[in-house]
Amino acid sequence: MCGIFGYVGSRTAEPLLVEGLRTLEYRGYDSAGIFVPGYGAIKSVGPIDNLAAKITQTVGGTSGIAHTRWATHGAPTEDNAHPHHDMSEGVWLVHNGIIENYREIKEGLAMQGVTFETQTDTEVLAKLVGSLYTGDLMAATQEALRRVRGTYGLAVIADKTPDEIVVARMGSPIVLGLGADGNFVSSDPSALLAHTKDVIYLDDGEMAMITTDTYEVHTVAGEKREKEPEQVAWDAEAIQKDGYDHYLMKEIMEIPQAIKNTIRGRLLPEKGRVKLGGLEGHLEEIVSLNRLVMVACGSAAYATQVGKYLIEEYAKLPVDTELASEYRYRAVIPDPKSAVLAVTQSGETADTLAAVRLAKEMDLLTLGIVNTVGSTIARETDAGVYNHAGPEISIASSKAVISQIVVMILVTVLIGRERGMTQEEGEEIVRALEELPEAVQKVLDQHEEIKLMAEKYAQYKDAMYIGRKFHAPIAYEGSLKLKEVTYIHAEAYAGGELKHGSIALLDENFPVIALVPQDDVYEKMVSNIEEVKARKAPILAITTEGALEVAQLTDDVIYVPKVHPIVQPIVSTIPTYLFAYYVGIAKGLNVDRPRNLAKSVTVE
Ligand code: GLU
Repeated sequence: MCGIFGYVGSRTAEPLLVEGLRTLEYRGYDSAGIFVPGYGAIKSVGPIDNLAAKITQTVGGTSGIAHTRWATHGAPTEDNAHPHHDMSEGVWLVHNGIIENYREIKEGLAMQGVTFETQTDTEVLAKLVGSLYTGDLMAATQEALRRVRGTYGLAVIADKTPDEIVVARMGSPIVLGLGADGNFVSSDPSALLAHTKDVIYLDDGEMAMITTDTYEVHTVAGEKREKEPEQVAWDAEAIQKDGYDHYLMKEIMEIPQAIKNTIRGRLLPEKGRVKLGGLEGHLEEIVSLNRLVMVACGSAAYATQVGKYLIEEYAKLPVDTELASEYRYRAVIPDPKSAVLAVTQSGETADTLAAVRLAKEMDLLTLGIVNTVGSTIARETDAGVYNHAGPEISIASSKAVISQIVVMILVTVLIGRERGMTQEEGEEIVRALEELPEAVQKVLDQHEEIKLMAEKYAQYKDAMYIGRKFHAPIAYEGSLKLKEVTYIHAEAYAGGELKHGSIALLDENFPVIALVPQDDVYEKMVSNIEEVKARKAPILAITTEGALEVAQLTDDVIYVPKVHPIVQPIVSTIPTYLFAYYVGIAKGLNVDRPRNLAKSVTVE
């Protein structure tokens, strides 16, 4: 997520800072800013070009810190843009990540008379460091971090000591770059390559101080660490992709982390409950709804279908799912005791936005599940939940969809516990969510085997995905991914639908990808597989560990861990993503930029 850059040395800092931010901008950030001691801060909303255009006067100074923000707390406005400062405006800080206990810290500081100007968690950290600062920036930052929970990569600088930058890392990368005429810090080694290949990667829990020609590494706990520089071997582009060939693969591999980010601070394991701050003001209304109507487009619409099944099964609240593009034009007969929940990665999807506006006109409560903080849908809905899945660059969505389903599960527990879900059931689901990243990782670790299968299936012109119950929408989503990334004609049906028409398509040249976990419709799916086999269609099954009879019936099998049924659809989706990716690669296609598609569909 997001970008940090800093420099201390003998050159003029400002152009280096702006250039550093440009290298980090490839992820598409929302606002940016720099701070140079003695010259102050310059911030702007939008691309780095906007920031560069604002720098009209000479900014001298040979040190500074810079940030491109991907907002998590507070809209992407100029005020919320980093760097943030303490009360005296003498200590400045840039931060990537989330300070989980910022509310608590903020209340404590407010009691001491500290005031706040922004909605960010980061400002609270800047104020905390400032409140502890008596001239030793390292000591103040260290003490502040001991009081903080959450994730951070950060860089701090003080007006009084412009030749020192203090940095720290917990869950969000920080790399030092040792140059000939100064030292650098960045959240991403790609931005250091123009200056040096000698780098030091900080580990979680480590802090460092850099000056023009020295560096020292400590831990937050106070130990000193000896760390030697390493040489960066990759080229700049590979580093932006963390060494992966494509963003799609990088983002699929980031799914465990995206899940952790989505659930962070939201689970109450002892109570078997969840906490969704963004919905708190409307909780009573939500749990006593007659009906929830979910609107979305594309993959997000399939996430809503999973959500419908889960919420109805575990929270006993009736749910309708609607394609936003249909909802906005058909004659909707609103139930006054219903709410409309919009699900969108970008928060700008034109059809989904129109559906939200229509719902508002009908006086319905509007809710959002949105990845991009401060986006239009996030702002226009009455309440909502942010995904915190991080920026998604690949056009075909992966980690954002999974995060949407994770939020559906959080919402299920939130509503369910007020509508008859027992504490024990709540605890089981919360535990299943905590264990989910590891189960997903086990599937990702099979990528080599899945690649071999994909190479075999890449020769076909068609494919059909089938699944039942929670896995019917996963069949639709898997087939959409294959269409997007490989241009193979792919159909998808609920298993029971096959015999009502589409089985006529099948023959030895029309493979079937069957989602067949050992759930309560397992035997029905096995029967569907028998029907397919009788038509000689090649079958690739995605099933749970131990389902040995599936292997006897099918040509290829991918086993995934058997987990709580509520999270099983997530675990089963992972092979469909890896499969689509590797088929695309086998066909020599640009999987990150499929033809005819755009990432954020802001047109009708
Ligand atoms: N949580 C911080 C904010 O919303 C940092 C976001 C980032 O990582 O860019 O300002």
